[in-house]
Amino acid sequence: MNVAARDSAAAASAAVAPLVRARNVHKSFGANEVLKGIDLDVAPGEVVVILGPSGSGKSTFLRCINHLEAIDRGSIEVDGEQIGYQLRHGRLNKLSSRAIAVQRRKIGMVFQQFNLYPHMTALENIIEAPVGVHGQDRREAVAYAMDLLARVGLSEKAPAYPRQLSGGQQQRVAIARALAIRPKLMLFDEPTSALDPELVGEVLNVMRDLAGQGLTMIVVTHEIGFAREAADRVVFMDGGIVVEEGRPEDILANPQHPRTRLFLSRFI
Ligand code: ADP
Ligand code: MG
Repeated sequence: MNVAARDSAAAASAAVAPLVRARNVHKSFGANEVLKGIDLDVAPGEVVVILGPSGSGKSTFLRCINHLEAIDRGSIEVDGEQIGYQLRHGRLNKLSSRAIAVQRRKIGMVFQQFNLYPHMTALENIIEAPVGVHGQDRREAVAYAMDLLARVGLSEKAPAYPRQLSGGQQQRVAIARALAIRPKLMLFDEPTSALDPELVGEVLNVMRDLAGQGLTMIVVTHEIGFAREAADRVVFMDGGIVVEEGRPEDILANPQHPRTRLFLSRFI
């Protein structure tokens, strides 16, 4: 979201239902409690950057939103529906795999490792989910994929295989692939961490464009500059909880919590 839109969005977010609503989310792996009660709302069109040290549960939280992990306690709603569950006759029932597939279509995710299919071209990677999984008309999917390739600046790379692309180009294709299902929410988990430094900027530029176009995004990143410029809100996680959150200019310039200060001091 651009800066001009932010204030009105912030004002509206009190009235508009959040697109993401996480409450008291707990998740353990064996005896290791990784999420210890996460609360987070994300308004439609909002860009939230999650910062925090390694091991603080950031990836786990994103994976819980996208059905890749099941939570132990609490709730996560996306677009008014509880992730993985359905309320029927006052009781929560586990969703069928078909219903989960419908929920997952609302969410696109981009990982640190781009995970493109190596034997498919850029274009084939992008249309795989819409055509192969969701049965969309191939011609329509191709037309939209070409739009998306243009948006990430790679129109001429449609016939290229992943091995013929740089890391930054592969990650831009991965972003286009995630967008191909027309998600309401995009999750980014350290999308530039695996890239050579000189390729980080081209990926962040694409993400900045998407943020400016009103896409709802949750971005885990260590790119403080991106948080400062593109985030509507910065959330600092440590030890499986949200330690502090607020506007980037407040959190980044004037963190209140000692753990946030310690974390940010490494970037200065
Ligand atoms: P972050 O993304 O903030 O670095 P993660 O969510 O990846 O943190 O990990 C938080 C903790 O959860 C770590 O201690 C990690 O080892 C543990 N963890 C994550 N995924 C699993 C898993 N599938 N099985 C067991 N432990 C896991
Ligand atoms: Mg992680």
